Amino acid sequence: MSELACPCGLGLYHQCCAPLHLGNTQAQSAEQLMRSRYSAFAKHDVDYILKTTAVGQQSALDMTAIVDWAKSNQWLQLEVVQANEKIDKNHGKVEFKAHYHDGKQAQIHHEVSHFVKFQQQWYFLDPTTDQQITMKQNCICGSGKKFKQCCAQFV
Ligand code: ZN
Ligand code: ZN
Repeated sequence: MSELACPCGLGLYHQCCAPLHLGNTQAQSAEQLMRSRYSAFAKHDVDYILKTTAVGQQSALDMTAIVDWAKSNQWLQLEVVQANEKIDKNHGKVEFKAHYHDGKQAQIHHEVSHFVKFQQQWYFLDPTTDQQITMKQNCICGSGKKFKQCCAQFV
């Protein structure tokens, strides 16, 4: 892979995920956000991982673990299996396989990620955060709805 190729595999980095990483443009779809997050892992751009996670989850992220995960693996290839941009009005999901090398052997991380759209921006819903949210609290995505009626089913 050339230095100029985007880690997500769609083209040249400066035309693909770089404008998103630099904040010059925003992801137009859940899939595009997913791709740009994969590329951010490959580029060790953990600030981008942070700011593209649901607003109410950002403070609960274990940034040390994220930096570690990004740096301890070599990110080889992204394979988007399928994307569903509209599970409902403001949620989408993307099934993907991230191919990486952990230093000992090649690995595949197969995941179905969920995303929420809030104020025209897509955010990742992290199912792994160690956070106590009750069903009656306001949702982590910022929608103003109760958690139960919004993102609860996706995290
Ligand atoms: Zn890309
Ligand atoms: Zn929500």
